[in-house]
Amino acid sequence: MKVSQLPLPRLEARQLGPLHILTDDALARTSGVRVAFTGRAGGVSEAPYAGLNLATHVGDDPAAVMRNRALLLEELGVPGLPLIVPNQVHGDELVCVPRADAATLADVREKAARGADGLVVTTSGVAALLCFADCVPVVIASPTGAFAVVHAGWRGVAASIAPKAVRALAARESGAEGPFGTPEEAAAAYNVYLGPHIHVECFETGEDVRVLFAEKMGEECAPDARHVSLARALAVDLVRAGADAARIADAGVCTACCPDEFYSYRAEGGMCGRHGALAFFAGAIKQVRS
Ligand SMILES: [Zn+2]
Repeated sequence: MKVSQLPLPRLEARQLGPLHILTDDALARTSGVRVAFTGRAGGVSEAPYAGLNLATHVGDDPAAVMRNRALLLEELGVPGLPLIVPNQVHGDELVCVPRADAATLADVREKAARGADGLVVTTSGVAALLCFADCVPVVIASPTGAFAVVHAGWRGVAASIAPKAVRALAARESGAEGPFGTPEEAAAAYNVYLGPHIHVECFETGEDVRVLFAEKMGEECAPDARHVSLARALAVDLVRAGADAARIADAGVCTACCPDEFYSYRAEGGMCGRHGALAFFAGAIKQVRS
């Protein structure tokens, strides 16, 4: 049996009960990986976190956050699915989730609590959730059902955390154990989704960040003295890691321009909730060589 090729990535807006998400149904049908980029609509948090705030570290009522997380899983049809939510620190640390038994999840949660900005998941039975307000949510999905969810602000982009996740996933899925012959073959087969984030026009930075981006990712990622494009830099760097440019999809929404629909750290003066990038796999991971 071969691993079937994924359809090209395409994010579509969906109403899930009271919630609004962006997802790719064709990906879910083909690979079993469900991706959901959430918005503010439908949650129980109150101002200034109003809506579906999924983060506990921002000052919101923890009971409201737990209800919001539970509501999201219920609406996605997986109530009670164990969640891993790392303590995000704008670094490049990834935590791997190889199994979903209680001991492994306890170990994973401990590592994720120490600080991590990405989860690489090669099992069913668990969902990965990372939280955002302007930074770029990145989900990488394999035809096998494995996936990674990454938090990429400018520090994470500059530290190449998304390419690091592609390489980590590709290494696990190739060679003697994996379904792909080589890591390159694996990386080229992945779909990459960039969720709602602050766009270049709204993302003003200092000269040091501009210079860093221009040097590392090319001048086209830093169009003028005060702005950098996180999405462009991610795309450049992901392709360097072997991703197929045709398999990188961008939600095309600027969080700072749409503070009614999404949380925006910049547009809301730093006091706000967090929307999420959630992914899980429903099925049996394919371990058969292609
Ligand atoms: Zn904007």
